[in-house]
Amino acid sequence: MISRDNFRQPTIRQISQRAGYRCSNPACLRPTIGPDGSDDVASIGVAAHITAAAEGGPRFDPALTNEERAAAENGIWLCQTCSRLVDVDLSSHPTEQLREWKTLAEMRAYLGLRGFTIAVSRTFERLEKMIPALISEMRNDVVKSPFTREIIAFSKGWSYGGGVRSYFTLYFEEHDDLLSKLRIMENYGALIDIKYNDIDRYELTEDFVEYLLLPV
Ligand SMILES: [Zn+2]
Repeated sequence: MISRDNFRQPTIRQISQRAGYRCSNPACLRPTIGPDGSDDVASIGVAAHITAAAEGGPRFDPALTNEERAAAENGIWLCQTCSRLVDVDLSSHPTEQLREWKTLAEMRAYLGLRGFTIAVSRTFERLEKMIPALISEMRNDVVKSPFTREIIAFSKGWSYGGGVRSYFTLYFEEHDDLLSKLRIMENYGALIDIKYNDIDRYELTEDFVEYLLLPV
């Protein structure tokens, strides 16, 4: 019979509490404990093994001792759904990724306890998938000129004196439906419309600039 290095109760408690009882999958973050009925408690949390508890299991690491395999460092707090997912889809969930999730989950819980939150830029990622060329151009602009925020949508034939402020120029000729795309970006909180003097002007929000400057 294969021996399993299961977590003991105090270890499970440590893993769950250090994650603030939330699923550590950054795409989930579901609370794993809450009220059930009028006076009961429902729990959907699982202390999952980062590397398997037994030989032949997901991400098993033969280099670990039995104690290391059953230690809190080898556990990650997940909801039931995500704990199944990481063991079924192994190629998308290697050991390093689960360690990263765990580190981020504990950091999130640490900051949350002290009144801070980590802003997740998932929505900007979705936005970038929708209009990659435009956002890639903005990223190049911001990298070259990190203190500029103003954007002017312009046609190549027009002349514009500008002003003292520096700005980025987007050309209608280079982007189909430019104004519609900028409107979508506005809806996502990436831009603010500051149109004046009949010129389509926008300002990049600081959240979006931060996203553009994230290491890829
Ligand atoms: Zn989950």
